[in-house]
Amino acid sequence: MTTPSNLPEKNENIADQLARGNQPAMLAGHKYEAISVGGFETCHMFPSLKLCFDIGRCPQKAVAANNLLLTHTHLDHVGGIFAYVASRGMLGLEPPTVVVPPGTSTKIRAAMDAVSALDGCQMEATLVELSPTSAEGVRLSNGLIVRAFFTSHPVVSQGYVVYRSKSKLKEEFRGLDQKDIAARARSGVKVNEAYEVPLVSFTGDTDVRFLQPIVGDISDIGDGDEDDVASHRHYRDDVDGETASPSDRHDTRAVQTLRDALMADAFLCECTFVDDSVKRADALAFGHMTYQDIVAHRECFTKCRHLVLTHFSARYRAQEVRDALQERLPTDVWERCIPLLRQFSESSKDNASSK
Ligand SMILES: [Zn+2]
Ligand SMILES: [Zn+2]
Repeated sequence: MTTPSNLPEKNENIADQLARGNQPAMLAGHKYEAISVGGFETCHMFPSLKLCFDIGRCPQKAVAANNLLLTHTHLDHVGGIFAYVASRGMLGLEPPTVVVPPGTSTKIRAAMDAVSALDGCQMEATLVELSPTSAEGVRLSNGLIVRAFFTSHPVVSQGYVVYRSKSKLKEEFRGLDQKDIAARARSGVKVNEAYEVPLVSFTGDTDVRFLQPIVGDISDIGDGDEDDVASHRHYRDDVDGETASPSDRHDTRAVQTLRDALMADAFLCECTFVDDSVKRADALAFGHMTYQDIVAHRECFTKCRHLVLTHFSARYRAQEVRDALQERLPTDVWERCIPLLRQFSESSKDNASSK
């Protein structure tokens, strides 16, 4: 059991369920289990959507997900892919679809082949590179649509939005009687139109500059080591020639997907630092978010139904995180906030690390 916090009761129940981790919580109508400790392990599982985001180590329950969406290739996010793919093969499950950032699939495949040669296991998976500028996105076998948005981190990285496609009556037919509409439909008139609902979104690891296409230039954050910030070049994102140019980052589709991410029923956002021990500019230099970034751009964090904050540094205890967020976040952010605290101890010194 976690110590009671002052989270709104509904969010507290979800947070408590997530912290215990013995069965899925219900988040915005979807089963959800997750673990995320900055630098050690991140995996967000949505069993009813048949997908998970990232797989730093491979929780047994993640094996059932047909789809894996990888935000970037740091080990605490990708290290479990070998066990995930091999376990699915061993259990006779279909090869998974693994959605990855542009330019990463060849190296991920090479790593999987190397492990396959060492272990003798089958390593079958369909790797799909998805660009944030892709309007089509990737349609998963269960009909859900995935699109990506740019994030800012020392390696190529991106966040994801998962959409459900629905249909509604076209504007011009609203107010007509049902029989009339049915008659028009029978005569071949298209009376419905499709629209998409952003269900769940996830940033993966990022610094605050992922918001730049919406909020404008974020350079005046003052209090850090200016040299660090000046020399910090994450935003350019050129890793082995893979670049995201400024024009890509302001691509209409990519920006719309970012807007959708902020408005999803459940927005999963990294917030590695929750106190003032790390300056805002230094968090940026590390490629991570701090609570101060959320305070500075609160309007971006009040559009979602649930805001799951994740990837806290292992230096914190669970109650420290709750207290810090409650004290420091604006009320309208705090009231939708669910801190993910599985594997964070209530008492000091027995977290995954004291780093
Ligand atoms: Zn990480
Ligand atoms: Zn990372």
